[in-house]
Amino acid sequence: MKVQDAADIQEFVTLRRAIHQAPELAFEEHQTAALVAEKLTEWGYDVTTGIGGTGVVGQLKRGTSTRSIGLRADMDALPIHEATGLPWASAKQGLMHACGHDGHTAMLLAAAKRLALSETFDGVLNLIFQPAEEGGGGALSMMNDGLFTRFPCDEIFAAHNMPGHASGRLVFRSGPTMASSDYASVTLIGKGGHGAMPHLSNDPLVAASSIVMALQTVVSRNIDPLFPAVVTVGAMHAGQANNVIPAQAQLEISVRALNPSARQRVEERVKAIIHAQAESFGVKAEIAWRSGYAVLVNHEGPTTFACRVAQDMAPAAGVEPQGPMLMGSEDFAFMLERVPGCYFFIGNGDGDGHGACMVHNPNYDFNDDILSVGAEFWTRLTLAFFDNNSKETS
Ligand SMILES: [Zn+2]
Ligand SMILES: [Zn+2]
Repeated sequence: MKVQDAADIQEFVTLRRAIHQAPELAFEEHQTAALVAEKLTEWGYDVTTGIGGTGVVGQLKRGTSTRSIGLRADMDALPIHEATGLPWASAKQGLMHACGHDGHTAMLLAAAKRLALSETFDGVLNLIFQPAEEGGGGALSMMNDGLFTRFPCDEIFAAHNMPGHASGRLVFRSGPTMASSDYASVTLIGKGGHGAMPHLSNDPLVAASSIVMALQTVVSRNIDPLFPAVVTVGAMHAGQANNVIPAQAQLEISVRALNPSARQRVEERVKAIIHAQAESFGVKAEIAWRSGYAVLVNHEGPTTFACRVAQDMAPAAGVEPQGPMLMGSEDFAFMLERVPGCYFFIGNGDGDGHGACMVHNPNYDFNDDILSVGAEFWTRLTLAFFDNNSKETS
């Protein structure tokens, strides 16, 4: 198989930088979605827009087989003010593609062009460009809008660039790979009063302090040490004056887990501890629990398949068949609950090199060198999936 022409890739470097200059927040990716739709249409895809808000699907049917693959990229940016000073830095104050979704979109478009214009296969290719990965749950929005009933996929795949891994290294992992993310807002309602007469009050501030300490035992005492989990109390608000016992206290809690049963257990224990502790202080606890993204669990079959395709491709920076788990979250997890598939990483650069700055940082810089690796891999994965490598030349 030929490596994508340098001229071809340059087209997508330019496109990536154009998207980078015009970042759009979750569910506001109108310009980006329009650009994606325009390109896909130009190359002969059947394009459907407005799925789950600003989502786009480009479908290419070839031959007679109904075997179908879904490849997903995300399109949204972050509310971060860019500090790179690069010529193609964000032209919008306070908005930045600081997670490289501009790169994911350009990478999938590069493969889209090549698969449509230069390759043959027998099957149905679904390219899924989703909105709102950054906390907005765009994957769920597209699914609730019938994504997989309108565009059935036998298997699905998605990639994310990853600083800290060598530029162009392909990193896979079977099983739990990224964490669930849940949130709780806790209101402790006591009885306020004079700071010099505490016996006439029920102090929610003391209850909150005790709860913060008690919650430290959830991970250490209730969760199997082999399954990572985090309970963080990120905010505690109560009181204003040194001689007044407040009537209320507020806690903001963030929970992560890398295993669905650990996730469930953490939720049960956090709620039980809060209620029991509050009661012991004569204080009432109200808990607003918000379930965020699910644990991302890669399916073994598709992961082994994708890894084998990567090993055949033999990228210069290598392939890692079973990389580390991450405590970050990703809404492709919801898609993987419905359809078997694999979410993998493409190294963005490591050490002091280009692309090593972590995502969600104002100095983050997507490494354009990995566009060709990603496009090449998407192409090979698709052709191998349809079991057609007849165009392979060398
Ligand atoms: Zn991100
Ligand atoms: Zn991201």
